[in-house]
Amino acid sequence: MEKLLIRYGMNKMLPFPHIFFGFIFSFILKIFLKLNLYNFLFLFFCTWVFDVDHYFFYVLKKKDLNFFHAYDYFIKKKNLRLEERRRLMLLNNRIFIFHTLEIIFLIFILIFVFSKLHGFLFLLGNIFHLFLDVIESFKDGFIKERYSLILFFISKKNLKIKKVKTKLRD
Ligand SMILES: [Zn+2]
Repeated sequence: MEKLLIRYGMNKMLPFPHIFFGFIFSFILKIFLKLNLYNFLFLFFCTWVFDVDHYFFYVLKKKDLNFFHAYDYFIKKKNLRLEERRRLMLLNNRIFIFHTLEIIFLIFILIFVFSKLHGFLFLLGNIFHLFLDVIESFKDGFIKERYSLILFFISKKNLKIKKVKTKLRD
């Protein structure tokens, strides 16, 4: 059973559990907010579709379009030790832009200008998505730089300074 869960990513938040919980979350909101089918689907997409940034990252990095290869790549990375994962993430620019608060805020503004309701639904869907990611990260280890471009670049700079300093000491 555990193996089956791992194979289909049900033990991790990438991406099937997001679709599953996203559907339930959206369905509950559909009832409470009396959303029509189109708005319900929009909200539902917002709860998981932004994980495509992982796939884009893999395609750009490895020049390989195979979804399952991308999937295995991230599962392997998740199994690294936390500090190592954080270091590699900073050094290799492993940042997933749709998971950063700055980009989410920008997209929100863009949608909000055209439709207040959809801007609002986008935020709800995304906050729910990040909420699941953060909950999961408590198990694997929380990396705060994952959620902010500004934090990411500050930490990356600090890491480089640290590297230079250790080199000088050698
Ligand atoms: Zn995610």
